[in-house]
Amino acid sequence: MNFGKIKEITSAHYMPVFTRDNLCIERGEGNCLYDTNGHKYVDFVAGIATNILGYGHPEYTQAVCDQVKTLMHVSNHYYTAVQADYIAALCEASGFDRVFLCNSGAEANECAIKLARRYFAKTNSNKSVILTAEGAFHGRTLATLTATGNKKQHELYSPLPRGFSSFKYNDFDDFKCKLTDEVGAVLIETIQGEQGVRPFCNDFLVNAYALCKSKGVLFIVDEVQTGMGRTGKLFSFEHYGIKPDVITLAKAIAGGIPMGACLASEEVGTAFSLGDHGSTFGGNALACAAAKKVLEILQNGLLQSSAETGEYLGDKLAHLSKYDFITDIRGIGLMRGIQLSDKIPAQSFEGKLKERGYLVNVAGNNTLRFVPPLTVTKAEIDGLVQALDEICAATCVL
Ligand SMILES: *Cc1c(COP(=O)(O)O)cnc(C)c1O
Repeated sequence: MNFGKIKEITSAHYMPVFTRDNLCIERGEGNCLYDTNGHKYVDFVAGIATNILGYGHPEYTQAVCDQVKTLMHVSNHYYTAVQADYIAALCEASGFDRVFLCNSGAEANECAIKLARRYFAKTNSNKSVILTAEGAFHGRTLATLTATGNKKQHELYSPLPRGFSSFKYNDFDDFKCKLTDEVGAVLIETIQGEQGVRPFCNDFLVNAYALCKSKGVLFIVDEVQTGMGRTGKLFSFEHYGIKPDVITLAKAIAGGIPMGACLASEEVGTAFSLGDHGSTFGGNALACAAAKKVLEILQNGLLQSSAETGEYLGDKLAHLSKYDFITDIRGIGLMRGIQLSDKIPAQSFEGKLKERGYLVNVAGNNTLRFVPPLTVTKAEIDGLVQALDEICAATCVL
């Protein structure tokens, strides 16, 4: 099927919600993707911060293929060794005691929200409100959309579920003020990925956490994008010396196979009773085998090496601050963003990088986001930054 036909069918039959790039991907190899015209692209999108092992990683591919042949899915009516293996490894690595497995980030957050509601219902307390940050992104189900700070989306789907409130990004006074007695849990990203890799400052997170602890409010960190080594540590909360009550994972957790997870302490995680929550596909054998291998590979050196490449990417991008129209360079590890002045649409840079063989995407406020596979090489980073430098040098600001 040629590209023209593919586009025609997609636009005729897929629900018209996605703005797609004019690119049809055929296959991946290493940290690169190839389109149907045989062009090669170094991938700094990675399926939206998902394919942390790149494409065709030998050990990972082997583990997935083996599991496909053995058993893919039986539902949670039954026990499987592969699920038990994985949750033991995940609890050990994270320091949490209880896991619920699902299929996406939105579902993981939905689980966390439901868990918080059950936790406070059990103590007969009135704390049903979930407090989230303006500009946050937590997913697209009705509850997680309500937790997401996007007014336009809220208007599209009213009436929204009740029991959510929000505070101003990085504003501790506003946070204190909004942390009323009805608030049972704070749901927060350490770095707002979809908002253009916008980090909370260290003091804000540390103080917000301490205040939640002192008031008996659950602190839930959405690690869907920042987790699994993306920021140079297994989980981003480790950078701040805090220990959330609950975290949520998805995106990279199974290296590109759909999976989500909600992790909690023993006390919070057992607020659910039999039948309180569930999932048909969640924690299936295929996803667990993939996720187990991802975790193993991270622990066997990738976490450490990718932390170094993440520093390297940060140092290289910092050189671009010489251009006035680059207004901010943000992020940690292999989660970075550069914001451009409003005069230069970031989309134009995205297109020019694509012509030079680099895929990036635009997130938030005119920001180019870089979230490559954690296996990205320094040479690939050099290539990207050189291409960016050339594009910047050729850019004249009117
Ligand atoms: C992507 C993302 C989600 C939603 O994940 P889905 O798998 O698309 O449902 C939630 N939170 C954060 C921080 C994300 O980056």
